[in-house]
Amino acid sequence: MRQLSEADRDAIGLAQDLKFPRLLEQITATGGCSHPVHLSGSTTTLDGTTGELLRHYDTGTEPGERLLVRCRNRRATVCPACSRLHAGDTFHLVRAGLLGGKNVPPTVRHRPRLFVTLTAPSFGNVHRAGELCRPRRDRGTCEHDRPRSCGAVHGPDDPSVGKPLCADCYDYTGHVLWHAHASKLWDRFVIDVRRRLASSVGLVQSRFRDHARLSFARVAEYQKRAAVHVHAVVRLDGPNGPADEPPPWAADRLIDAVRSSARRVLVRTPYSPAVGELVLRWGEQVDVRPLHAEGDGPGDDAVAAYVAKYVTKGASETGAGIDHRVTTWDDIESASVKAHVRTLMRACWRLGGLPEYEPLNLRTWAHTLGYRGHILTKSRAYSTTFAALRAERAQHVAGVDVPGAVTERNWRYVGSGHTPGAALIAAGIADDIAQNRAVAREALRAGGDAT
Ligand SMILES: [Zn+2]
Ligand SMILES: [Zn+2]
Ligand SMILES: [Zn+2]
Repeated sequence: MRQLSEADRDAIGLAQDLKFPRLLEQITATGGCSHPVHLSGSTTTLDGTTGELLRHYDTGTEPGERLLVRCRNRRATVCPACSRLHAGDTFHLVRAGLLGGKNVPPTVRHRPRLFVTLTAPSFGNVHRAGELCRPRRDRGTCEHDRPRSCGAVHGPDDPSVGKPLCADCYDYTGHVLWHAHASKLWDRFVIDVRRRLASSVGLVQSRFRDHARLSFARVAEYQKRAAVHVHAVVRLDGPNGPADEPPPWAADRLIDAVRSSARRVLVRTPYSPAVGELVLRWGEQVDVRPLHAEGDGPGDDAVAAYVAKYVTKGASETGAGIDHRVTTWDDIESASVKAHVRTLMRACWRLGGLPEYEPLNLRTWAHTLGYRGHILTKSRAYSTTFAALRAERAQHVAGVDVPGAVTERNWRYVGSGHTPGAALIAAGIADDIAQNRAVAREALRAGGDAT
């Protein structure tokens, strides 16, 4: 007889259990989450005035007397099912700010909207993919006797792409300190765009909000050289938000304001006897594209999908950093990362030990190379929130609450994860759901083309 794996044997054992159909329902309800949280407890809904029992749910009769709920991890390497759900939420969140929906008025599509990409500056030459890598006529060497040029043409998957030509010339200190200040640089950028718009018509900055409101959603993406760059949707509304039209003078000046602010804003690092004071700016590559309600700009859905794509990627997947925190120098030495990334992590650790950099928490964020912003950040008025999207989904699952009803919830955490057999079943369900979605999308696209 063929040898069965432990997971197969476990799955067969589970399938023989009388409560297996219900377990299958639970796993399906989590979308095939690979690390579900196990809860035990009850929810009771009573009529607020009569005290009549309207609904009661209790895990007493469930398989293992527990209910499985999603882990909600955004990273595809941790949980494929939840990361897809998170990407979907991100897509809807960004899309609603572009096209309306999810309580955002559809008029947002007529507001001035830009798709902006801001990069990190250069911290030293790195090998690059595409055309001739680093051609140089004099073919000199640096002070470490390493060539300053590279005549190769690297493919996009070439492991040397993103690696410094000379690690000793590369400014690792500048790189991690820039990461540590990137969110501040973004905040200054947004403030400066407002200030520029205001001053272009002779307004003081504090009056700007009486005339217009600037909203955004941005994501951080690690490039090959392990430096973060930022993609953002920037939208200009009237003073009362998305339903309100901004003044025509502001709309006309938005692109110029974004371009010059990206070039001009700076952040100074705290003075350090070892490092001095660095002045940090955005890199020279700034891309600003207007999004058009109709016409030939990049499609709104394409932009939303592009932004959502980055949110499910963990640091480890992009080859920049790892998915969990490091707590010792040895963790850095044993991490499975490229030499360039390890040197960046070491720089975080070293600089993180200096008292002047304590507020930057560089050791805590060594695994993300000093960058401690969220992957997705948005301003309040941009669109809906992750919490609202989750609540909407929960409403679909739990049904609408009866007005005037009182609900008592009594839950506790009893564990997490799957047995090997249940993990196999969950992975199958997650795959099925992903495939069904792909088929549905295909059908929709085919239908759309036919009309
Ligand atoms: Zn999950
Ligand atoms: Zn090269
Ligand atoms: Zn060198």
